[in-house]
Amino acid sequence: IGENITENIKTAQSIPLELNQPVDMVAVGEIWLGKKELEKINKERKAKGEPLFANTRNAAAGSVRQLDPKVAASRKLDSFIYDIDYFKSKEINFPETQLEELKLLEKLGFKVNKNYKSCKNIKEIENFYQQWIDKKNGQNYEVDGIVIKINSKKIQDALGYTGKSPRWGVAYKFPAEKVTTIVEDIKVQIGRTGALTPVAHLKPIKVAGSTVSRATLHNEDEIKKLDVRIGDTVVIQKAGDVIPEVIESLKKLRTGKEKKFNMPSQCPICGSNVKREEIGQKLEAKSHKLEADLSAAHYCTNPRCFAVEREKIIHFVSKKGFNIDGLGEKIVERLINEGIISNIADTFELEKGDLKPLERFAEKSADNLIKSIEKSKNVELEKFLFALGIRYVGEETAVLIAKTINTEFLIPNFKFLIKSQCKNDKINNLNDIICIFPKIKIEDWLRIKGIGEKAAESLVEWFNDSESVKLLEKMNKLGVKVLVNSGQEPINRKLENLSFVLTGELKNFTRDEAKDMIRKAGGNISSSVSKNTSYLVAGEKPGSKFNKAKELGVKIISEESFKKML
Ligand SMILES: [Zn+2]
Repeated sequence: IGENITENIKTAQSIPLELNQPVDMVAVGEIWLGKKELEKINKERKAKGEPLFANTRNAAAGSVRQLDPKVAASRKLDSFIYDIDYFKSKEINFPETQLEELKLLEKLGFKVNKNYKSCKNIKEIENFYQQWIDKKNGQNYEVDGIVIKINSKKIQDALGYTGKSPRWGVAYKFPAEKVTTIVEDIKVQIGRTGALTPVAHLKPIKVAGSTVSRATLHNEDEIKKLDVRIGDTVVIQKAGDVIPEVIESLKKLRTGKEKKFNMPSQCPICGSNVKREEIGQKLEAKSHKLEADLSAAHYCTNPRCFAVEREKIIHFVSKKGFNIDGLGEKIVERLINEGIISNIADTFELEKGDLKPLERFAEKSADNLIKSIEKSKNVELEKFLFALGIRYVGEETAVLIAKTINTEFLIPNFKFLIKSQCKNDKINNLNDIICIFPKIKIEDWLRIKGIGEKAAESLVEWFNDSESVKLLEKMNKLGVKVLVNSGQEPINRKLENLSFVLTGELKNFTRDEAKDMIRKAGGNISSSVSKNTSYLVAGEKPGSKFNKAKELGVKIISEESFKKML
C-alpha cells in the first residue's frame, strides 16, 4: 500500500533508466532537491501566488507525489542511492562490505554520494562528524547528520535487527538549529491526560527551514530553571520535526518590563482546581532532557476539561461557524494536545511550521489549512456569534441579532446602555462589537423579538467575562474581520429620542410598516399613551388613545404630518 511514484522518479536525471550490467536487484536511496532549485521553485510559486515550500525535503516529497510527471520533471529532482536490499546476478558476486556495495552501485550507473569515509575507530568517526558540522552548510542539499554503519556484511548479519532498526547502523544527527526570538506570552495548554503544560507563544521565527510560533516549556520547574519571563528574548532550538524548545533566556537583554509566569491554581480552560503531582507517570515526556530531570506536573482536576475545550474549538471552526476547511476533529485534538492551540483565537495564529511536527501532516494539507484559515478570517456576524459558542445562542438567535442589530435594534435606542463611550453607535466591525456588546444589558437584549431571557443573560455573561474580551481582542489583532449587515435602508436620526403611539387605521402603510419606519429613524414605539409620549399618530377611527392623549396634552398628528417627519 502506498503511492506509485515510478513515473515521477524516472524524471530525476540521475536515476538510470537502464543499468550498465544485467542484474536483478532492489536498490535503496533518497530523492532530494537542491537548495538552489528550491529557491527557483519558490520564486515561481510566489509569482503565481501559490504557497511556498518550507524546505527542500517537503518540496521533494511534494514533487514525487505530483500527479503530473511533467511537473515532477520540471522540478529537477536528484538522487543518492546507498543500499542494496536484494541482489541476483550470474556475473557479479554480492559485495562483502558496505564500501564495495557503494562502489558496485556506482558501477551499475546509480548516483552515490561521494562523501563517505571508512573509519577505523570512534575518534575518526568523531572527527568526520565535526568536519561535517562546518561543511554541511556548503552543500547544495540539506544535511541533518551522518549515518554510521558497520562495514563488514558478515558482522552486519550477525548483529541483525531490533524490530525494524538495524543494530549495525545508527544516525548521528548534527546539533539542533538555534535561533533567538521574543516570548510574547506564556499560555497553559491542556493535554489529553489532563496535564497542563506551559507553552511559550513566540514572535514568529524561521528555524530549521520553517516558521514557528510556539515552543514548549515542559513544566513549572523548567520555567524556573530557565527563568523565562514574558517579554524575554530567548534561544530556541528545533531538532528534526518536533515542537521547538526554549533552551535559554537572554537575561542581559531585559528591559525591566518582563513579566514572571506562575502556574495558575485554577485551570485557565475550565476554571477547576489545579493539582501538582510529583513525577506523575501520566506525564508525557517529550524529550530525553525532560525524562532525565522531570519533577512535577500540574493537572486539571476536571476530567472533562480537555474534551470541553476540544468541543469548543470544533464548534468554532465548524461549517456554521468560521467554516475552516481541513480542520477536522482529529486535527483539532492533536493541535490542542501538542499545545499549538489552546483556545479558539489561537487558530488564527497558526504558522505552517507549527503544523509540521504533527505526524503525517502532509505539506499540502498544511498549506491548504493555512489558506482556509486565512480565508475564514472574513466572517459574517451571524456565523461569528454562533462560533463563539455562547450558551443559548444557537444559529437562529445569532441570525436574529445579526439581522436586527443595525436596523430595528438600534444602539442609540438602548435604554440601559451607558452611552457615548464607544467610537460608533452602530456595529460595523469587531472593534464595535468589543466596545459595545459588553455594555448591552439584559433588558436591551430582550428587546430583540425572539431573544429569550436565558439567551439574554448568557450574552451579558459571556461578553462581560474578561477572558471572552481577551479572545475577541486577540482575534481582532490577528485580522479577523466581522462582516455586518449595515441595514438595508440608510439610517437617519430624525426621530431620535422621540416616542410614538399609533392609533386608528393608517391609509399609506400597515401598523408594522409604520413601526419599522419609526424604529429605523431612531424613534421608539409604545403601545399606550403616557406623559412621555412625544406624538400620537392618529389614523381613521382613532380609539381611546386619542382621548387619553388629549387629556395629557400629548401632541396629536395626522398620518400626513407623520409622513413629513420621516
Ligand atoms: Zn480544566
